[in-house]
Amino acid sequence: MVKKKQVYLDYAATTPIDPRVMQAMMPYFSEEFGNPSSYHYYGQSAENALENARDKVAKYFQCLSSEVIFTSCGTESDNLALRGTAIQALKERGASHILITPVEHHAVTRTAQQLSKFYGFELEYLPVDQLGRVNIDDLITRIRQDTAIVSIIYANNEIGTINPIGAIGEICRSRGVTFHTDAVQAGAYLSLNVNSLQTDLVSIGAHKFYGPKGIGALYVRQGTSIIPAQTGGGQEFGLRAGTQNIPYIVGLAEALDIAQTERENRIRSVKHLRDHLIGTILEEISDVQLTGHPDERLPNHASFVFYGVDGNALLMMLDIEGFACSSGSACKTGNPEPSEVLSSLGITHDWALGSLRVTLGNFTTAAEIEEFLSVLPKVISKLRKIR
Ligand SMILES: *Cc1c(COP(=O)(O)O)cnc(C)c1O
Repeated sequence: MVKKKQVYLDYAATTPIDPRVMQAMMPYFSEEFGNPSSYHYYGQSAENALENARDKVAKYFQCLSSEVIFTSCGTESDNLALRGTAIQALKERGASHILITPVEHHAVTRTAQQLSKFYGFELEYLPVDQLGRVNIDDLITRIRQDTAIVSIIYANNEIGTINPIGAIGEICRSRGVTFHTDAVQAGAYLSLNVNSLQTDLVSIGAHKFYGPKGIGALYVRQGTSIIPAQTGGGQEFGLRAGTQNIPYIVGLAEALDIAQTERENRIRSVKHLRDHLIGTILEEISDVQLTGHPDERLPNHASFVFYGVDGNALLMMLDIEGFACSSGSACKTGNPEPSEVLSSLGITHDWALGSLRVTLGNFTTAAEIEEFLSVLPKVISKLRKIR
């Protein structure tokens, strides 16, 4: 691997740990190593750290501390939300209908598909418009009395589009249907207030907001019918067995605290660079489209499709030039299939294969964006020539 100066423009994939987060975590690896379930001094000290972290997270969900469940990642939170509520709803009231969108993360899609294949649920996809947003009227038509759960992504990882979660939540609540949102991309830039989002379940994962990988949380509204996806000890109010990962939980809480208190500054610093990036690319390169919503999108997120460009070759050439970007989805080399998300927006094959996602973050500078903007047009035209 050649390591020349690299510019990281893939903050939607993961973020580096904030040094303040690292510092907060450190004592819990060594001197404060106790098991929070133990009776003695060590246990109590770990228990204190756990409950302080829970209170911190609850502050940003605007919920009770007992409504915050720590998990091992965003994926696990999505799994617990869907599997835990769907199986319970089936047993409790024979509800066998699951409603999701075609633009969910695989953590939701694959879980819903498994529930359909092995547990007999009827899985229905709520359509999204060309910008990747759910239409409230479609939800009203499709939600049913026997809907076990509705799960709709808050901010899309691939195209950045933000859904009107509060309005969706209101419909679900008025019908008495459990509503989950995957907010894993939202933690860094959007409000997680569950009272305005009107959700019963919200998934987050720390490594998308400058916390460690391998730790997540799930908000579970009091009274939600849900069974644990992982059984064993009674940890996490009986909803997630296993000794809690205290250093990582402390890290998640610290990272969320920083992300949410510094939110306005962070938005300001990435958004104007991002807007400049989008504007320049749309102006200077031919046959390009912005994917996702032009305004209702994450402030650090830019995503495009280039007509007649091989997306994998594009990523490879950008990497050689020193820019770490993404196609937006895990696209297999050798058998190029356009992403399901882009296809569901009505983007045709020839366009969708040339996808590029550029996501900015705390360490992105104006100089890096200028460099990127001077390289990208040349790379695109080179790739179009060799086709
Ligand atoms: C990253 C991501 C996940 C998975 O989170 P992990 O913590 O990596 O398991 C789920 N949903 C969305 C929208 C994501 O961006």
